[in-house]
Amino acid sequence: MTYDAIVLGAGINGCGIAGELAERGQRVLVLDKGEIGGGTSSKSSRLIHGGLRYLETMQFGMVREALADRFALLGRYPELVSMRPFYVPIYRTSPRPVWRLWTGIKLYDALAGRRNVYRSGKVSRKRFARAFPAIKREGLRAVLRYYDGKTHDRALTQRVAEDSRAMGCAFCERVDVRHVAWDERGFAVSVGDEIFTSRILVNATGPWIDEVAARYGLPSRFQIRKVSGVHIFVDGLLSPDPLFLQTASKRVFFLIPEPERDQTMIGTTEREERGRVDGVRVRESEVDYLIREVNAYLTAGRRLQRADITDACVGVRPLVARKGDATDLSREWELDLHTRGNAQLLNVFGGKLTTYLSLSRRAADTLGIETMMRVALRA
Ligand SMILES: Cc1cc2nc3c(=O)[nH]c(=O)nc-3n(C[C@H](O)[C@H](O)[C@H](O)COP(=O)(O)OP(=O)(O)OC[C@H]3O[C@@H](n4cnc5c(N)ncnc54)[C@H](O)[C@@H]3O)c2cc1C
Repeated sequence: MTYDAIVLGAGINGCGIAGELAERGQRVLVLDKGEIGGGTSSKSSRLIHGGLRYLETMQFGMVREALADRFALLGRYPELVSMRPFYVPIYRTSPRPVWRLWTGIKLYDALAGRRNVYRSGKVSRKRFARAFPAIKREGLRAVLRYYDGKTHDRALTQRVAEDSRAMGCAFCERVDVRHVAWDERGFAVSVGDEIFTSRILVNATGPWIDEVAARYGLPSRFQIRKVSGVHIFVDGLLSPDPLFLQTASKRVFFLIPEPERDQTMIGTTEREERGRVDGVRVRESEVDYLIREVNAYLTAGRRLQRADITDACVGVRPLVARKGDATDLSREWELDLHTRGNAQLLNVFGGKLTTYLSLSRRAADTLGIETMMRVALRA
């Protein structure tokens, strides 16, 4: 079968790019070795956000762009993405002073611009203590509140795939791509006994991208650093709304109640992985670490035991690094285009759940595929 484009990887980015290309009139096939959304796109913190903590490292452009994507997703999928208040309790022992976090949430509002209809601010400690009885009061100096987007990552990815399918994309899950060959005319992708051909190949395999490039001999200018993150789950709601928490060593983590599933999610950790992505597992020490850190915020009667943890999962963040530069660890994305005659290979490095829309548009632009509107205007 011949397509205009073949996309490897049915995570949020692969599904989004496929939809964008289909909307621009391309015939697209998406291949995944697992299930739609079964990779990193179902192991995230489920936030549609600019990332308050990235302001500390001055990644203003990235935060502003992600906040614009947040706005777009709230409009596109209101049943899957909603704004929630996030509370930031600050204690005498907290590593960041109140003024610093206050500046952060105000800057966060400002970067969202006129799109930001929610205003952050201070909450009285009394009101907070009444509404959050499981959270300790001793040493509480101030409570801040800001707003951010919340979703369900796998459901969102599946919905994006559904929309892409409705626009004509074909999806094949649980396939083993055995071989990829390319010349000036295009690509031949072998799956079992079948060979699919196309002019464009998009490698959107998230944290697997380097392994995939090496396996099929595809060129790339970047590489990823694999940083895993664990979340733990407990039954019931530990708080009515999400909490932005800090460890003594300044790491940020979240406690996120999910009333629709009657559970609370806590995470995440950060560990650089050196081995293969498929070998990454939840470590007992990471579960214990999260229990310890969250217990520092809970009142005596509500502290968690190991037996309270109903589930734990680990995902691998695909962070972009320029080849040879191990220090370049931003969560921004890079599109890496390689051309051979008529054939185009596009590698997708990085990208958050939140930014898939702008990444997908930029991917189609990079491939030189015009929107149908542009084509019509030119005609
Ligand atoms: C712990 C954690 C928390 C996060 N929290 C957030 C958050 O709150 N908000 C946010 O916006 N982002 C968050 N992220 C980032 C976000 O989840 C990811 O960046 C994003 O989901 C990556 O999507 P992707 O499509 O690039 O990759 P993936 O979702 O991993 O998709 C890649 C796909 O490629 C497939 N694949 C691999 N090898 C092959 C092959 N050989 N052939 C065919 N298919 C193959 C895999 O099966 C997989 O389905 C978080 C990430 C982690 C790890």
